Amino acid sequence: MPLKVHKDIESLSPYVPGKPIEELQRELGLSRIVKLASNENPLGPSPKALAVLAEAAQTLHRYPDGSAHRLRTALADRWKVSLDQVIPGNGSDEIIGMLARAFLSPGDEAVMADNTFVIYKMEVLAAHGKPVIVPLKDGRHDLAAMAKAITPRTRLLFVCNPNNPTGTMVNAAEVETLMAQVPEHAIVVFDEAYCEYARDPHFPDSLGYVKRGRHAIVLRTFSKIYGLAGLRIGYGLTTPEIAGYLNRVRPPFNANSLAQRAALAALGDEEHVAKSRAMNQTELAGVRAGLVALGFRPLPSEANFLYFDVGRDGRAVFDALLREGVIVRHIEGTMLRVTIGLPEENRQFLQALKTVLGR
Ligand SMILES: *Cc1c(COP(=O)(O)O)cnc(C)c1O
Repeated sequence: MPLKVHKDIESLSPYVPGKPIEELQRELGLSRIVKLASNENPLGPSPKALAVLAEAAQTLHRYPDGSAHRLRTALADRWKVSLDQVIPGNGSDEIIGMLARAFLSPGDEAVMADNTFVIYKMEVLAAHGKPVIVPLKDGRHDLAAMAKAITPRTRLLFVCNPNNPTGTMVNAAEVETLMAQVPEHAIVVFDEAYCEYARDPHFPDSLGYVKRGRHAIVLRTFSKIYGLAGLRIGYGLTTPEIAGYLNRVRPPFNANSLAQRAALAALGDEEHVAKSRAMNQTELAGVRAGLVALGFRPLPSEANFLYFDVGRDGRAVFDALLREGVIVRHIEGTMLRVTIGLPEENRQFLQALKTVLGR
């Protein structure tokens, strides 16, 4: 008998991650490869996180603390919320899936931008919801249009800030105007995976809405500036009520024990975060200048990556860069996204791009 698969699942394509370094090494036999494809921290994990892993590994025969109590307590403390407002995730990705499963009935709508984190659409479809896609305006979330897209069936509204893949930001005033229009039956999801990199003083205080009891959730991750992408750990800050529903669909041991322990240590490593932020700020400006010198106009970025139009087949440029040992991200058409790496890696990227374009 043929497999019977729901049409919503049939319509999905598997997520294509940034090419791993080892894979490219195997394929091309290159020794020096620069991966600027997944917005990881080029300085590596927090040394404080690394230091606790060996000890934490001694208890790997035990299940993790299913409530991630110590980590959640530290996060509640840090963000001045109560313990029941913190929800752990196997990466913040997982919480997006939990939101879809907990709050979408078949046909319910989720409003999102057309060029944003691809996981929103994937999880909404997998939960048999309906993505309502609102085009970016000048590369930024068009919050006014997103507010207009809300209907009685809207359950979720995703604000990726700064936005992946564009790096652009929406500010406090724009979010305030949005929040004045969002009805109670919709949850606003502020995905702030890159907020630690944002320098704009008008970056919105999204957590303030949660604290005032609005139906909102703030998603944060240890995968980016904290340098722990391989461990899979993130969290959500929300109202106790929303957290309660998320806990009903949360897999019992979703945050593994090494990740919980390392995240706790990384959270206390302000030095690593400050160093990472400072390096990104300098290097972002350098890569931007390098791209501008090559004739490109990257969008303004508040994150650790730049998004730009190469003005020709982006896939071909991506492939040519691969052969030069540089992995970037082809988004679609002529658009590429490049993560800010170490100074030497950024130089190598700009040199490789120049070589590729000169052919
Ligand atoms: C990287 C990223 C995440 C976090 O992913 P994890 O699952 O925590 O590794 C979430 N949202 C956006 C927009 C991202 O780019």
